[in-house]
Amino acid sequence: MRAAYYDKLEGYKAIKLGDFPIPEINEEEVLVNVKAFSLNHLDVWVMEGKYPMEIPLPHIFASDGAGIVAKVGKNVKNVKEGDRVVIFSGLSCGVCEKCLSGKDNECNSFRPLGVLENGVSAEFVKVPAVNVFKIPENLSFEEAACIPITYITSWHSLVTRAGITQGDTVFIHGGGSGVGTALIQIAKLYNATVITTVGDDWKVDRCKQLGADFVINYKKEDFVEKVKDYTDGQLCDIVVDHIGAETFPKSLSCAKRGGKVITFGSTTGADTQVNLRYIFGKNLTIHGVYMGTKGEFAKILKLFPDKLKPVIDSVFDLNDVQKAYEKLLSRQFFGKIVVKV
Ligand code: ZN
Repeated sequence: MRAAYYDKLEGYKAIKLGDFPIPEINEEEVLVNVKAFSLNHLDVWVMEGKYPMEIPLPHIFASDGAGIVAKVGKNVKNVKEGDRVVIFSGLSCGVCEKCLSGKDNECNSFRPLGVLENGVSAEFVKVPAVNVFKIPENLSFEEAACIPITYITSWHSLVTRAGITQGDTVFIHGGGSGVGTALIQIAKLYNATVITTVGDDWKVDRCKQLGADFVINYKKEDFVEKVKDYTDGQLCDIVVDHIGAETFPKSLSCAKRGGKVITFGSTTGADTQVNLRYIFGKNLTIHGVYMGTKGEFAKILKLFPDKLKPVIDSVFDLNDVQKAYEKLLSRQFFGKIVVKV
């Protein structure tokens, strides 16, 4: 099978195309003929050697894919050959207390597909049957491939952890990122007032089209001051920070008393200094979020494509996979970048 892979951890420029044997499945697994995958910053950290565990080389990468079931193991009942499926990219043991209580993203062995195992940047990938879900009608492979990490992390953040309610005020960093677009859409399901940031003026209108009420160009304006202005000093019920070290201390200043602050991703680094008085003095709750659960995934799939719809920036051919990652790192995109396999 054709695959994009790398054999050294030196970033996207080390990606090559090559031939690999089609994976063998066991009785509980499914072989998926991948049609499209979407990019995440996680892929970049892994290929740059920043993931805290040893990555097996050569490595077929990427976590979020969709395709057609090519083969099923003897015991598989939930899908059959020919089904269009999207892969839930969180793998877990399936038998521990956390997994059995539906908190598979808190399983000790929880990890994204495409990190310690081969991922979806190939014509075929094998995954446990419990990780494949039928694609909702009227959703393309490209759109479906954008859902897993982006939407599950956003849903788990706003709905499950922060407990968003009707009319909340939500502050979302990076409204033009894949996860930013998903967060805006989910917040608007709850009629939230959404304040978001962008680093380029051309992204302002795009965020507003998605439903953002206020958009701040953080390169030109101080986002804390603008949040104070836009909320009449009331600040926000929920603040989602996936930027990390550069913004987190200031993000705390955007949350109101009793507010909730979400952290994941940290694309600008993970080491930062916070003022503890801000946290206890304002009764803040900080939620660390690592993806979400299969149960949540099964639930949110029902909302596509009518209530939620992935925003696709661009679709690249597998031959141009390096260009796709170059674009991701340029920050000159809006929504998700997809590669067709
Ligand atoms: Zn487990």
